Amino acid sequence: MTAQIIDGLAVAKRLRQEMAAHAADMRERQGGIVPGLAVVLVGDDPASQVYVRNKNRVCEEVGFRSYSHMLPSATQEDELLDLIADLNANPQVNGILVQLPLPEHINEATIISAIDPIKDVDGFHPVNVGRHASGLMSLKPCTPSGCMILLNEVLPDLSGKKALVVGRSNIVGKPMALMLLEANCTVTIAHSRTKDLAAECLEADILVAALGKPAFIKGEWIKQGAVVIDVGINRVDDPETGKHKLCGDVEFAAACERASAITPVPGGVGPMTIACLMQNTMQATMMQNGWA
Ligand code: NAP
Repeated sequence: MTAQIIDGLAVAKRLRQEMAAHAADMRERQGGIVPGLAVVLVGDDPASQVYVRNKNRVCEEVGFRSYSHMLPSATQEDELLDLIADLNANPQVNGILVQLPLPEHINEATIISAIDPIKDVDGFHPVNVGRHASGLMSLKPCTPSGCMILLNEVLPDLSGKKALVVGRSNIVGKPMALMLLEANCTVTIAHSRTKDLAAECLEADILVAALGKPAFIKGEWIKQGAVVIDVGINRVDDPETGKHKLCGDVEFAAACERASAITPVPGGVGPMTIACLMQNTMQATMMQNGWA
Protein backbone atom coordinates (compact mmCIF):
# COMPACT_ATOMS: atom_id res chain seq x y z
CA MET A 1 0.00 0.00 0.00
CA THR A 2 1.24 3.50 -0.76
CA ALA A 3 -0.40 6.00 1.49
CA GLN A 4 -2.39 9.00 0.32
CA ILE A 5 -0.56 12.13 1.42
CA ILE A 6 -2.92 14.44 3.29
CA ASP A 7 -2.18 17.93 1.99
CA GLY A 8 -2.30 20.19 5.05
CA LEU A 9 -1.19 23.20 3.03
CA ALA A 10 -4.20 22.91 0.71
CA VAL A 11 -6.70 22.24 3.52
CA ALA A 12 -5.31 25.13 5.59
CA LYS A 13 -5.54 27.46 2.58
CA ARG A 14 -9.18 26.48 2.09
CA LEU A 15 -9.94 27.18 5.78
CA ARG A 16 -8.18 30.57 5.60
CA GLN A 17 -10.21 31.42 2.50
CA GLU A 18 -13.41 30.51 4.36
CA MET A 19 -12.35 32.78 7.25
CA ALA A 20 -11.54 35.61 4.82
CA ALA A 21 -14.99 35.28 3.20
CA HIS A 22 -16.62 35.18 6.63
CA ALA A 23 -14.68 38.27 7.76
CA ALA A 24 -15.65 40.19 4.60
CA ASP A 25 -19.29 39.27 5.14
CA MET A 26 -19.08 40.36 8.79
CA ARG A 27 -17.56 43.73 7.82
CA GLU A 28 -20.34 44.42 5.32
CA ARG A 29 -23.36 43.11 7.17
CA GLN A 30 -22.51 43.53 10.86
CA GLY A 31 -21.71 47.22 11.06
CA GLY A 32 -18.03 46.98 10.19
CA ILE A 33 -17.01 44.45 12.82
CA VAL A 34 -13.46 43.19 12.20
CA PRO A 35 -12.06 40.30 14.29
CA GLY A 36 -8.91 41.34 16.18
CA LEU A 37 -6.16 39.07 17.47
CA ALA A 38 -3.52 40.21 19.97
CA VAL A 39 -0.33 38.16 20.13
CA VAL A 40 2.02 38.63 23.08
CA LEU A 41 5.63 37.49 22.99
CA VAL A 42 7.99 37.80 25.95
CA GLY A 43 11.68 37.41 25.13
CA ASP A 44 13.65 37.06 21.93
CA ASP A 45 13.43 33.36 21.08
CA PRO A 46 13.94 33.32 17.27
CA ALA A 47 11.49 30.43 16.65
CA SER A 48 8.76 32.21 18.64
CA GLN A 49 9.44 35.44 16.71
CA VAL A 50 8.85 33.55 13.46
CA TYR A 51 5.58 32.10 14.80
CA VAL A 52 4.38 35.56 15.85
CA ARG A 53 5.27 37.08 12.46
CA ASN A 54 3.41 34.25 10.70
CA LYS A 55 0.33 34.81 12.85
CA ASN A 56 0.34 38.53 11.98
CA ARG A 57 0.78 37.76 8.28
CA VAL A 58 -2.13 35.31 8.24
CA CYS A 59 -4.34 37.80 10.15
CA GLU A 60 -3.68 40.32 7.39
CA GLU A 61 -4.38 37.73 4.69
CA VAL A 62 -7.84 36.88 6.11
CA GLY A 63 -8.75 40.50 6.87
CA PHE A 64 -8.44 40.40 10.68
CA ARG A 65 -6.74 43.09 12.75
CA SER A 66 -3.58 41.96 14.48
CA TYR A 67 -1.87 43.54 17.47
CA SER A 68 1.66 42.46 18.40
CA HIS A 69 3.14 43.03 21.83
CA MET A 70 6.84 42.13 21.82
CA LEU A 71 8.12 42.44 25.39
CA PRO A 72 11.70 42.09 26.65
CA SER A 73 12.63 38.87 28.47
CA ALA A 74 13.07 40.82 31.73
CA THR A 75 9.32 41.66 31.76
CA GLN A 76 7.84 40.90 35.17
CA GLU A 77 4.73 38.79 35.72
CA ASP A 78 2.80 41.82 37.07
CA GLU A 79 3.56 43.83 33.93
CA LEU A 80 2.33 40.98 31.74
CA LEU A 81 -0.82 40.64 33.87
CA ASP A 82 -1.46 44.39 33.42
CA LEU A 83 -1.15 44.03 29.65
CA ILE A 84 -3.56 41.08 29.65
CA ALA A 85 -6.05 43.09 31.74
CA ASP A 86 -5.87 45.89 29.11
CA LEU A 87 -6.38 43.41 26.27
CA ASN A 88 -9.29 41.76 28.11
CA ALA A 89 -10.95 45.20 28.38
CA ASN A 90 -10.25 46.27 24.79
CA PRO A 91 -13.33 45.66 22.59
CA GLN A 92 -11.17 45.75 19.43
CA VAL A 93 -9.33 42.67 20.67
CA ASN A 94 -11.38 39.49 20.30
CA GLY A 95 -8.60 36.95 20.73
CA ILE A 96 -5.54 36.94 22.99
CA LEU A 97 -2.62 34.57 22.49
CA VAL A 98 0.41 34.53 24.74
CA GLN A 99 3.24 32.75 22.93
CA LEU A 100 4.62 29.85 25.00
CA PRO A 101 7.04 29.02 26.49
CA LEU A 102 7.34 32.05 28.77
CA PRO A 103 10.59 32.92 30.59
CA GLU A 104 11.06 30.86 33.76
CA HIS A 105 10.31 33.72 36.17
CA ILE A 106 6.75 33.99 34.81
CA ASN A 107 4.17 31.40 35.83
CA GLU A 108 2.44 30.11 32.71
CA ALA A 109 -0.65 28.87 34.54
CA THR A 110 -1.15 32.30 36.18
CA ILE A 111 -0.91 34.04 32.81
CA ILE A 112 -3.22 31.64 30.98
CA SER A 113 -5.79 31.92 33.78
CA ALA A 114 -5.71 35.74 33.53
CA ILE A 115 -6.97 35.73 29.93
CA ASP A 116 -10.71 36.23 29.63
CA PRO A 117 -11.95 32.72 28.63
CA ILE A 118 -14.08 34.21 25.84
CA LYS A 119 -10.87 35.66 24.29
CA ASP A 120 -8.74 32.56 24.96
CA VAL A 121 -8.17 31.57 21.31
CA ASP A 122 -5.53 28.99 22.30
CA GLY A 123 -8.19 27.14 24.30
CA PHE A 124 -5.80 26.61 27.22
CA HIS A 125 -7.75 28.47 29.96
CA PRO A 126 -9.04 26.06 32.65
CA VAL A 127 -12.61 27.23 31.96
CA ASN A 128 -12.30 26.25 28.29
CA VAL A 129 -10.53 22.98 29.15
CA GLY A 130 -13.31 22.11 31.63
CA ARG A 131 -16.10 23.13 29.26
CA HIS A 132 -14.51 21.05 26.48
CA ALA A 133 -14.21 18.02 28.77
CA SER A 134 -17.86 18.49 29.80
CA GLY A 135 -19.08 18.60 26.20
CA LEU A 136 -20.04 22.30 26.42
CA MET A 137 -19.29 24.91 23.75
CA SER A 138 -15.75 26.22 24.22
CA LEU A 139 -12.71 27.55 22.42
CA LYS A 140 -10.59 24.47 21.69
CA PRO A 141 -6.83 24.10 21.16
CA CYS A 142 -5.81 24.80 17.56
CA THR A 143 -3.41 21.92 16.79
CA PRO A 144 -5.78 19.06 17.66
CA SER A 145 -8.64 20.91 15.92
CA GLY A 146 -6.46 21.00 12.81
CA CYS A 147 -5.71 17.28 13.16
CA MET A 148 -9.44 16.52 13.31
CA ILE A 149 -10.07 18.48 10.11
CA LEU A 150 -7.28 16.57 8.34
CA LEU A 151 -8.61 13.23 9.61
CA ASN A 152 -12.08 14.08 8.34
CA GLU A 153 -10.61 14.74 4.89
CA VAL A 154 -9.90 11.02 4.54
CA LEU A 155 -12.28 9.50 7.11
CA PRO A 156 -15.57 11.42 7.22
CA ASP A 157 -16.95 9.01 9.85
CA LEU A 158 -14.57 8.14 12.68
CA SER A 159 -17.21 6.27 14.66
CA GLY A 160 -15.99 2.99 16.18
CA LYS A 161 -12.39 3.41 15.00
CA LYS A 162 -9.57 2.51 17.38
CA ALA A 163 -7.50 5.67 17.88
CA LEU A 164 -4.13 5.93 19.58
CA VAL A 165 -2.72 9.29 20.66
CA VAL A 166 0.99 9.17 21.50
CA GLY A 167 1.67 12.08 23.88
CA ARG A 168 -0.42 13.53 26.71
CA SER A 169 0.47 17.23 26.76
CA ASN A 170 -2.20 19.79 27.59
CA ILE A 171 -1.79 21.49 24.22
CA VAL A 172 -1.90 18.46 21.93
CA GLY A 173 -2.29 14.94 23.37
CA LYS A 174 -5.06 15.39 25.94
CA PRO A 175 -7.38 17.63 23.88
CA MET A 176 -6.73 15.42 20.83
CA ALA A 177 -7.89 12.34 22.75
CA LEU A 178 -11.01 14.22 23.87
CA MET A 179 -11.85 15.26 20.31
CA LEU A 180 -11.45 11.68 19.04
CA LEU A 181 -13.70 10.50 21.87
CA GLU A 182 -16.30 13.13 20.89
CA ALA A 183 -16.12 11.66 17.37
CA ASN A 184 -16.98 8.23 18.85
CA CYS A 185 -13.54 6.64 18.51
CA THR A 186 -12.28 4.12 21.06
CA VAL A 187 -9.30 6.07 22.35
CA THR A 188 -6.01 5.02 23.93
CA ILE A 189 -3.41 7.54 25.14
CA ALA A 190 0.25 6.46 25.18
CA HIS A 191 3.07 8.29 26.95
CA SER A 192 6.65 7.82 28.07
CA ARG A 193 5.68 5.12 30.60
CA THR A 194 3.65 3.06 28.11
CA LYS A 195 5.01 -0.50 28.23
CA ASP A 196 4.78 -1.68 24.61
CA LEU A 197 4.26 1.25 22.27
CA ALA A 198 4.76 -0.85 19.13
CA ALA A 199 1.92 -3.20 20.17
CA GLU A 200 -0.37 -0.24 20.91
CA CYS A 201 0.41 1.30 17.51
CA LEU A 202 -0.30 -1.96 15.66
CA GLU A 203 -3.87 -1.92 17.05
CA ALA A 204 -4.66 1.61 15.90
CA ASP A 205 -6.90 2.47 12.94
CA ILE A 206 -5.96 6.09 13.63
CA LEU A 207 -2.53 7.00 14.99
CA VAL A 208 -1.78 10.53 16.16
CA ALA A 209 1.90 11.00 16.98
CA ALA A 210 2.67 13.96 19.25
CA LEU A 211 5.74 13.05 21.26
CA GLY A 212 8.40 15.34 19.80
CA LYS A 213 10.97 12.65 18.91
CA PRO A 214 12.18 12.45 15.30
CA ALA A 215 11.00 9.33 13.41
CA PHE A 216 10.41 7.53 16.72
CA ILE A 217 7.31 5.66 15.47
CA LYS A 218 8.61 2.98 13.13
CA GLY A 219 6.98 2.05 9.85
CA GLU A 220 6.50 -1.56 10.91
CA TRP A 221 4.47 -0.40 13.94
CA ILE A 222 1.74 1.01 11.69
CA LYS A 223 -1.37 -1.15 11.23
CA GLN A 224 -2.07 -1.91 7.56
CA GLY A 225 -4.50 0.72 6.25
CA ALA A 226 -4.26 3.02 9.29
CA VAL A 227 -4.53 6.80 9.01
CA VAL A 228 -1.48 8.53 10.50
CA ILE A 229 -1.46 12.12 11.73
CA ASP A 230 2.07 13.26 12.52
CA VAL A 231 2.08 16.31 14.79
CA GLY A 232 5.81 16.26 15.53
CA ILE A 233 8.01 19.10 14.34
CA ASN A 234 11.67 18.20 14.90
CA ARG A 235 14.75 19.94 13.54
CA VAL A 236 17.35 17.38 12.47
CA ASP A 237 20.62 17.49 10.54
CA ASP A 238 20.28 16.82 6.83
CA PRO A 239 23.40 14.91 5.72
CA GLU A 240 22.58 15.62 2.05
CA THR A 241 22.72 19.41 2.40
CA GLY A 242 24.70 19.75 5.63
CA LYS A 243 21.88 22.00 6.92
CA HIS A 244 18.86 21.39 9.13
CA LYS A 245 15.53 20.01 8.00
CA LEU A 246 12.18 19.38 9.66
CA CYS A 247 10.92 15.89 10.30
CA GLY A 248 7.98 14.38 12.13
CA ASP A 249 7.64 11.80 14.89
CA VAL A 250 6.88 9.01 12.40
CA GLU A 251 9.32 7.22 10.10
CA PHE A 252 7.62 8.69 7.05
CA ALA A 253 8.78 6.60 4.04
CA ALA A 254 8.33 3.26 5.83
CA ALA A 255 4.95 4.33 7.25
CA CYS A 256 3.76 5.20 3.71
CA GLU A 257 4.13 1.51 2.82
CA ARG A 258 1.49 0.49 5.40
CA ALA A 259 -0.77 3.49 6.11
CA SER A 260 -3.76 4.33 3.90
CA ALA A 261 -3.19 8.05 4.49
CA ILE A 262 -0.58 10.13 6.29
CA THR A 263 0.29 13.77 6.94
CA PRO A 264 3.75 14.92 5.82
CA VAL A 265 6.14 17.08 7.85
CA PRO A 266 6.37 19.86 6.85
CA GLY A 267 3.08 20.56 5.05
CA GLY A 268 0.69 18.54 7.23
CA VAL A 269 -0.52 19.58 10.67
CA GLY A 270 1.71 22.69 10.92
CA PRO A 271 -0.24 24.99 8.55
CA MET A 272 -3.54 23.85 10.08
CA THR A 273 -2.63 25.24 13.49
CA ILE A 274 -2.56 28.88 12.32
CA ALA A 275 -5.67 28.38 10.16
CA CYS A 276 -7.51 27.03 13.22
CA LEU A 277 -6.28 30.03 15.22
CA MET A 278 -8.09 32.23 12.69
CA GLN A 279 -11.18 30.06 13.07
CA ASN A 280 -11.02 30.41 16.87
CA THR A 281 -10.61 34.19 16.56
CA MET A 282 -13.71 34.27 14.35
CA GLN A 283 -15.60 32.07 16.83
CA ALA A 284 -14.54 34.31 19.73
CA THR A 285 -15.67 37.43 17.82
CA MET A 286 -19.04 35.86 17.16
CA MET A 287 -19.47 34.77 20.79
CA GLN A 288 -18.53 38.27 22.03
CA ASN A 289 -21.18 39.74 19.75
CA GLY A 290 -23.83 37.32 20.95
CA TRP A 291 -23.99 35.26 17.74
CA ALA A 292 -24.18 31.50 17.92
P1 NAP B 1 5.48 17.70 25.04
O1 NAP B 1 4.75 18.65 25.92
O2 NAP B 1 6.95 17.57 25.16
O3 NAP B 1 4.82 16.27 25.26
C1 NAP B 1 5.37 15.12 24.69
C2 NAP B 1 4.56 13.92 25.09
O4 NAP B 1 5.13 12.78 24.47
C3 NAP B 1 4.55 13.66 26.61
O5 NAP B 1 3.25 13.35 27.03
C4 NAP B 1 5.49 12.47 26.76
O6 NAP B 1 5.11 11.58 27.78
C5 NAP B 1 5.30 11.76 25.43
N1 NAP B 1 6.48 10.96 25.11
C6 NAP B 1 7.78 11.35 25.15
N2 NAP B 1 8.58 10.31 24.85
C7 NAP B 1 7.77 9.26 24.62
C8 NAP B 1 7.99 7.91 24.27
N3 NAP B 1 9.22 7.42 24.11
N4 NAP B 1 6.93 7.10 24.11
C9 NAP B 1 5.68 7.56 24.27
N5 NAP B 1 5.40 8.85 24.59
C10 NAP B 1 6.43 9.67 24.78
O7 NAP B 1 5.20 17.99 23.51
P2 NAP B 1 3.97 18.71 22.76
O8 NAP B 1 3.98 20.17 23.06
O9 NAP B 1 2.73 17.92 22.97
O10 NAP B 1 4.46 18.54 21.24
C11 NAP B 1 4.67 17.26 20.67
C12 NAP B 1 5.27 17.45 19.28
O11 NAP B 1 4.33 18.15 18.48
C13 NAP B 1 6.55 18.30 19.25
O12 NAP B 1 7.37 17.81 18.20
C14 NAP B 1 6.05 19.68 18.88
O13 NAP B 1 7.02 20.45 18.21
C15 NAP B 1 4.92 19.33 17.96
N6 NAP B 1 3.88 20.36 17.87
C16 NAP B 1 3.46 20.69 16.63
C17 NAP B 1 2.47 21.63 16.49
C18 NAP B 1 2.01 21.98 15.11
O14 NAP B 1 1.47 23.03 14.89
N7 NAP B 1 2.18 21.07 14.14
C19 NAP B 1 1.90 22.25 17.59
C20 NAP B 1 2.32 21.85 18.86
C21 NAP B 1 3.31 20.89 19.00
P3 NAP B 1 5.15 11.98 29.36
O15 NAP B 1 3.93 12.80 29.58
O16 NAP B 1 5.11 10.67 30.05
O17 NAP B 1 6.42 12.75 29.58
